[in-house]
Amino acid sequence: MRNYTQFYIDGAFVDPITPKTAEVINPATEAVSGTISLGSEADVDKAVAAARRAFASWSVSTVAERTDLLGAILAEYERRERELGEAVTEEMGAPLSLGCGFHTLLGKGHIGTALEVLKTYKFEEERGVTMIRKEPIGVCGLITPWNWPMNQTCVKIAPALATGCTMILKPPQLAPYSAQILAEILHTAGVPAGVFNMVQGAGSVIGAALSRHKDVDMISFTGSEPVGVQIQKDAADTVKRVGLELGGKSAWIVLDDTSMAANVAGATGGMMGNSGQTCSAGSRLLVPAARMEEAIAAAAEAANGVTVGDPTGNFAMGPVVSKSQYNIIQDYITKGIDEGATLIAGGPGRPEGIDKGWFVRPTVFVGTNDMVIAREEIFGPVLVMIGYDDLDHAVEIANDSDFGLGGYVSGEDLGVARDVSKRMRTGAIWVNGGFDFNAPFGGYKRSGNGREWGVEGFAEYLETKAIVGWNAAG
Ligand code: NAD
Repeated sequence: MRNYTQFYIDGAFVDPITPKTAEVINPATEAVSGTISLGSEADVDKAVAAARRAFASWSVSTVAERTDLLGAILAEYERRERELGEAVTEEMGAPLSLGCGFHTLLGKGHIGTALEVLKTYKFEEERGVTMIRKEPIGVCGLITPWNWPMNQTCVKIAPALATGCTMILKPPQLAPYSAQILAEILHTAGVPAGVFNMVQGAGSVIGAALSRHKDVDMISFTGSEPVGVQIQKDAADTVKRVGLELGGKSAWIVLDDTSMAANVAGATGGMMGNSGQTCSAGSRLLVPAARMEEAIAAAAEAANGVTVGDPTGNFAMGPVVSKSQYNIIQDYITKGIDEGATLIAGGPGRPEGIDKGWFVRPTVFVGTNDMVIAREEIFGPVLVMIGYDDLDHAVEIANDSDFGLGGYVSGEDLGVARDVSKRMRTGAIWVNGGFDFNAPFGGYKRSGNGREWGVEGFAEYLETKAIVGWNAAG
């Protein structure tokens, strides 16, 4: 059992001002796995005051001081990486191979990338008579979701530290363990008191208090669209910057010139990864209508081949994060059947032989783009395949969405694949796979307004100041 009932404020682990606790449930067993404290507005005030005090010195720290600190954090993160991965598995149900693999690797990658970007980042640039300075925006509220906890936390903390900001992290209530270990890592690595603070608790209390707080200069939020909208409203009165990384309903276009079976199988397997709980997952798979039969066979075989079970065992897919997510996903599967989509794999209920834990069957539908299952983010292992007539039709379907986060194109002819990728209205596209920590990540349309990762991630935490007359006019 984990007992994480203290917050991290002003360089120390401290008790909440008013004691209140909540149990954390292991989604694979439905058993209580530990306890956290639920903070109050008073805890937020205390953390914001500490961050405000620390900003005076951290905002004028040198690049060398900040690179040294990021290096120390990276070393301590690596030392405790296994522990972090196990915490991720316990809190949100990712298989251990994923929790101790890609989950923690992403967090580490963001710290290392921020460190490298910082070494050469131009905080000052003279342009004619003017000096343009990039200055830290101030005290930042960082609000994160549970689905890739180390990725989403480190992608905020690392650039915020690198740019000289101070911060208050509000981790997800469903998955609070890895953030607690990360706070210990930052403490051991020597983050100065008040620069990083963490308060656990309910989003509607801690997140809302940060969003409304007059001494918080910026909110960086990753999570669902409705909460993002609420945060913008809460932040409006104090005119703070709000960076939003929201949901998606991303299209994966398989072009006609490529192996249908291999690419459909790859896309289907990709959709089931992390139990479908990935904001940029390719949840709409677009295939040539004339080759739908071939695609159905490949998708069904791939989905039926995904092993589901105990995340500490040797299975490809664990549970989804909670009972309420399980119920939401079940409702969508029922909705898909009711609205006439053809079920080709999976379906309602738990996988055969499992009667406990929030396990969902890897599910594939063939449907149309006007169906609810093709329009709304399900956030579970549910894929919708849609047939297209020609390239224009494929692009039209892909862009016919309220969201615009990710996109995928698989094809042999790179020229055609590139052309299709340019026509898709989303923030990130993967052409025949690939991975890049320096590629900016964020959404068009209702998928958000921010850009994280790499050098673009720094801009979120910086103000631009113009000092005119810095140089005498020539
Ligand atoms: P969520 O919106 O329910 O919660 C996210 C965070 O916001 C949590 O810490 C929560 O406690 C907090 N919160 C809740 N109500 C709040 C309020 N009124 N004010 C301030 N904070 C509040 O999202 P979730 O269920 O944790 O995560 C899943 C969602 O996140 C999905 O929609 C997914 O697509 C999205 N997501 C987006 C990205 C991206 O980079 N675009 C990445 C991962 C996840």
